[in-house]
Amino acid sequence: MSSNDALRERFEEFVAGYLAEEDAILQAIRIESEKAGLPEIQVKPLDGYLLQWLIYLINAKKVLEIGTLGGYSGTWIARALPEDGTLITLELEEKHAEVAQRNFTRAGVGDKVTIIQGKALDHLPTLETGIPFDFIFLDADKASYPQYLAWSVEHVRPGGVIAAHNVLRRGRIFNPPEDANDEGLLVFNDMLMTDSRLRAMMIPLGDGMGVAMRR
Ligand code: SAH
Ligand code: MG
Repeated sequence: MSSNDALRERFEEFVAGYLAEEDAILQAIRIESEKAGLPEIQVKPLDGYLLQWLIYLINAKKVLEIGTLGGYSGTWIARALPEDGTLITLELEEKHAEVAQRNFTRAGVGDKVTIIQGKALDHLPTLETGIPFDFIFLDADKASYPQYLAWSVEHVRPGGVIAAHNVLRRGRIFNPPEDANDEGLLVFNDMLMTDSRLRAMMIPLGDGMGVAMRR
């Protein structure tokens, strides 16, 4: 670890200490997800806070998430929504969806959240409620990020925001791609930053958050 990494980590901890402390429910969601055998690849608290902050900035009410896992990021998102706000979240694995449903209920946001289980690319074309979305968060298989983005640009409102987790892929974006996920991210990053319909930004927080506003 370079001293630059250490400084960055210290800075993120400093900011998170002020803004993104986990409460007991978010902790329980992480722990219950782990006990159920889900991979520990949920967003970090400061990522969750960033999603909330973006939602507040644009007054998002209708949110789509691709990649639910145990509902950790979904809980951060749902908590930032107004009374009549809704989150639709897509998840491939039945087990993940079940754990997430329990966690959303635990967090008291179950009535705002709808989990749709199956391959996201199969379900996106069938979505009717929510369209156009105010905010879309991409965090599923990286190989499909380009397709998720292509769909999202068409289904987010003008002024709406698309956010994408792991755009740094722990630095693998700077190496020759080794699998379909590496490949997907390379294409995705290029798409996000060159699409003239978007105003993009890459936030170097954690594993990188790509953010773009639809013009
Ligand atoms: N957003 C979550 C983490 C998501 S991890 C959080 O921060 O709490 C990625 C998730 O995407 C996994 O649960 C995985 O099962 C799911 N996934 C992978 N491929 C998918 C696909 N094709 N369609 C929908 N979900 C998929
Ligand atoms: Mg992620």
